[in-house]
Amino acid sequence: MPFKTQKITNPINLNNMAVKGEIVIDRERCKGCGVCLGACPNTVIALSKNVNSKGYNYAEAVKDECIGCASCAIVCPDGVISVYRAKL
Ligand code: SF4
Ligand code: SF4
Repeated sequence: MPFKTQKITNPINLNNMAVKGEIVIDRERCKGCGVCLGACPNTVIALSKNVNSKGYNYAEAVKDECIGCASCAIVCPDGVISVYRAKL
C-alpha cells in the first residue's frame, strides 16, 4: 500500500478530516449480493464481470475515491471487506 494505513474496526466521524481510504475485498468469500455497492457514498465499488471459484460476480473497487468511511464493511453480511485509512 502506498501510504501508512490503519485498519478500521469502528466507524468514526470523518468531518473535517482529510483522509484517504482503501478497501480489500476477499473475493473468494464474496457472494456478489451487491449490498456494499449502495452503501458507498462515492460509488467506489462495483461487481466484477469475472466470477470467483464459486461462480459469484465478486465486488471490487473501481475508483480511487475511497474515504475510508467503512460503510461497505459494516453492511456486508459476510464481513469480507477490510477498510484501511490514512490521514493525509
Ligand atoms: S470505505 Fe466508504 S468510501 Fe471506501 S469503499 Fe467503503 S463505503 Fe466506499
Ligand atoms: S456486501 Fe459483501 S458479500 Fe455482498 S457483494 Fe459486497 S463484499 Fe460481496
